[in-house]
Amino acid sequence: MNNAFSMQDGTLCADGVKLEELAARHGTPFYVYSAPAMRGRADALRQAFAATLPPERQPLVTFACKANSNVAVLRLFAGMGIGADIVSGGEMARALKAGVPPSRIVFSGVGKTDAEMDDALRHGILQVNIESEPEMERLAARAAAAQVPVGVAFRLNPDVEAGTHAKITTGKGENKFGMPAATVARLYRRAAADPWLRPRGISMHIGSQLTALEPFRLAFEKMAALARTLEAEGLAPESLDIGGGLGVVYRADTQAPPDLHGYAALVRDIIAPLGTQIILEPGRFLVAEAGALVARTLFVKKGEDREYLILDAGMNDLMRPALYDAWHTILPVRDEAGRPRRIYDIVGPVCETGDTFAKDREMPEMRDGELAAVMTAGAYGFVMASPYNTRPLPAEIMVDGTRSAVIRARETAEEIIGRDIVPGWME
Ligand SMILES: *Cc1c(COP(=O)(O)O)cnc(C)c1O
Repeated sequence: MNNAFSMQDGTLCADGVKLEELAARHGTPFYVYSAPAMRGRADALRQAFAATLPPERQPLVTFACKANSNVAVLRLFAGMGIGADIVSGGEMARALKAGVPPSRIVFSGVGKTDAEMDDALRHGILQVNIESEPEMERLAARAAAAQVPVGVAFRLNPDVEAGTHAKITTGKGENKFGMPAATVARLYRRAAADPWLRPRGISMHIGSQLTALEPFRLAFEKMAALARTLEAEGLAPESLDIGGGLGVVYRADTQAPPDLHGYAALVRDIIAPLGTQIILEPGRFLVAEAGALVARTLFVKKGEDREYLILDAGMNDLMRPALYDAWHTILPVRDEAGRPRRIYDIVGPVCETGDTFAKDREMPEMRDGELAAVMTAGAYGFVMASPYNTRPLPAEIMVDGTRSAVIRARETAEEIIGRDIVPGWME
């Protein structure tokens, strides 16, 4: 457990708010996020850099919205001067609605549509991170048509092994992301000669949930080498965007948090000497530990050789276990001394065997109707939820001290079904 969630009076609380009370008031399942925990993570990251780099060299932190794009969450970070790393026009709309100034918006992603490029041009965002030659040509054409200059960075694929789960590795040569150094250099020259493209620098993002620093060091060195090559040609980058990827602790018994000061020191030693603006794109790190998914136990089912704890939340609400074999700590919301321990397969109601949050998980004995909290669910949780099985998307709640607010209303089945249209010829 982290500082956002704690047992008070025998019941699990987010800050000063009892999860039982939220469940009674708003129903289950729901996501709950601690605002102080989110601010705390952002402060920790900033402090690591404040202690390592001089004031004028502090990085621009852009929150990778895809980790948790609720407008209230984006507003919280915007209020701290944190920008947004977006990967779609929808996320751009969210960031702008949250009050993130365009000068702090970076547009990443391998496939941007014309409409998304036009939005980026119209709002004058800081930079578009280019991931391929045809994408650059398309953006140049859109910018010329709109007669609007656009800041661009080129995403380097440094071909390093991030040492994380295969589905969240993005910096190997075989991944679809970014371009080799030689391609970046060629496009950089081409962009420098374009009347509408304003090459700002290089970007990178090697993967997610990294807790070791070595992959960052290798990638930073490749980025710095490329920046020097460009500099030697009179094309010195003005900005280096080193991406996100900082991991969090899902399992306290086997994982250690990333060393923030070590990370900042790598930036100081390898990236900062180039004298550019430095951009960070943390996602998971800022929000994962601040959130939990709270669900009710529907039934404890005795199977042939095991017991199933069947929750009212499923893989559609939290995909990470099914998608990445991710571990999430799961706690009873009531803390009762002397409960016997049991071993459960903790599952959801969705008609898929993959709808399993945990297998053979030891935890206190649970009763039908009891609340359980799936911890460390603030990143890549709600944002990946789907209405599979026509299960309405869960509510999202933010707590701040003793205050709580619904920041996204629970979806209703009517809202889902209401978008279906029976063709006239079937009437
Ligand atoms: C997903 C993503 C991030 C954030 O990754 P985290 O592991 O959540 O920090 C940053 N930059 C880009 C380009 C991304 O696609």
